Amino acid sequence: MQSDIKALIFDLDGTLYVNNDLGMEISRAACRYVSDLKNISAEEAAELINQTRRDLSQATGLDSTLSHTILALGGDLRTLHTRFADEIRPADFLSRDRRVPEMLKGLADKYEMYIYTNNNLRLSNSIMELIGVKGLFARIFTIEDNWRPKPDAEAIGTIYRLIGRDPTECLFIGDRYDVDLRIPAERGSAVFLANNVIELLSLAQFLAREKI
Ligand SMILES: [Mg+2]
Repeated sequence: MQSDIKALIFDLDGTLYVNNDLGMEISRAACRYVSDLKNISAEEAAELINQTRRDLSQATGLDSTLSHTILALGGDLRTLHTRFADEIRPADFLSRDRRVPEMLKGLADKYEMYIYTNNNLRLSNSIMELIGVKGLFARIFTIEDNWRPKPDAEAIGTIYRLIGRDPTECLFIGDRYDVDLRIPAERGSAVFLANNVIELLSLAQFLAREKI
């Protein structure tokens, strides 16, 4: 079967790199924000975030995001991301795994490539530079584009329109099915779940098989 896939749309955090320490730093910054917002201690904020996230997941039956949890707590995503960009230094946590840029450079010769992330542009650029993948993507879709965090059907529709591709011509790559892949799959896109670098590196073989 000849594949129709023309565009690859990658999640960034947890997909193109995995780093628990950076994830914990983001969680700590979110706790500081909720602590200030609610005038409670950082420990109480952590518990409130965890409980709210569990409640959201239970109510929807789907994995929930930090962004939606902050919104449910009455927070403002713009303020949160200004603080993330000011307080978080990805350079303290990330190093380069050259296998990832090598594979992506090979794929960039054959496919249009995009990033679609709930992160902000400043941190995304910094992270892409550190992991060695900057410049490989035609466009970076971030939270600032519409302040509608993934998963969001309207935002996905906008991406299809802006890249000029039918859903069936797109492959979405992410580390969280409910957040990154469920809506694209419902729209008819191909999806690829990658929870670590080894799984991500199998993407090239997956696409090669699709071409047969
Ligand atoms: Mg992710």
